[in-house]
Amino acid sequence: MSIRKGVADFIERYSRQLLVIGIEKQLKLSSSRIAIIGCGATGSSVAEALARAGVGFIRIVDRDVVEMNNIHRTHLFKEEDALKRMPKAIACRKHLKEINSNAEVEAIVDDVDADNIQDIIGDVDLVIDGTDNMDTRYLINEACVKLGKPWVMIGVERWYGNTKLIVPEKTACLKCFIPRARTRENVCEILGVMPIAINLTVSVALSIAIRYLIENEVDEYLYIVDAYEAIIEKAYVRRNSSCPVCIHKQFDFLRRERENVKILCGAKAVKIVPENRIELDFAKLTNSNIVKNLMVFDDNVAYGVVDGFEVMILRNGKLFVKGTTDKSCALELYKKIVNGVTK
Ligand SMILES: [Zn+2]
Repeated sequence: MSIRKGVADFIERYSRQLLVIGIEKQLKLSSSRIAIIGCGATGSSVAEALARAGVGFIRIVDRDVVEMNNIHRTHLFKEEDALKRMPKAIACRKHLKEINSNAEVEAIVDDVDADNIQDIIGDVDLVIDGTDNMDTRYLINEACVKLGKPWVMIGVERWYGNTKLIVPEKTACLKCFIPRARTRENVCEILGVMPIAINLTVSVALSIAIRYLIENEVDEYLYIVDAYEAIIEKAYVRRNSSCPVCIHKQFDFLRRERENVKILCGAKAVKIVPENRIELDFAKLTNSNIVKNLMVFDDNVAYGVVDGFEVMILRNGKLFVKGTTDKSCALELYKKIVNGVTK
């Protein structure tokens, strides 16, 4: 494509937005790099809006597959994605590229943890919270404070949502205003959510994210969304002068000992992480017939059924066994799958 044609297409595509923000700010969006942690209803809605708005690079990280119970609140996913058991990150990349083929979209199918979060956010301008739990938010908060990366917290439950821009050294961090929360260790139930609460909260989050990207505006408010009463309120949040994270740089979640076998209670699944770095041979896995209905995505993620349990297998040896919280059962499956297919 000639440069002239490229410029004409760019101006045509963003013509209505250019009337509002102008070419300079549109180009800032084009050169922005974003990481979205979690690609459920909030993460995928943010991803879709940013791809349409013209953000140049979007990295999506999620370990799960699309399920039919996601479709009622997740605009981006289709029934076909659920039937094909597509990993959410890969389905999201596919749809974003259909929306904006100029956007660079990177899909990472993995669990975000203390081992990989700094690599995931190290080269982006803004991190967006698409997670569904406080443990991961505290981990994101610590990694962002450590690396000096701004992030947008988004939490939605039932009819209500919260969102806030957190810019290390400039605004309060998450720990400043939510010092303690129900974490995975003390809450296991799956909470209901209304799609309109997600839409309203994501719209507010996009407002603060886009203003930060194009105008460097540091919004210091916590936004509180009540989708039932259709009210959005905001509260100024001060930094806590004795905050363990942003003042004392005490990074408990980043330093947490890795659990090699962990129950993911909300998801009713068990995650197994190999003790040492390994790489699985997916060609051997495909030929081995251990995993029934095997599907391989990106030559990096495999999904199928072993002994009646759905499993997701990553090339790096991580395994997620769905439908059980029995660690020994998951370990048996792990041995069965990994023995003989490790490179
Ligand atoms: Zn703080």
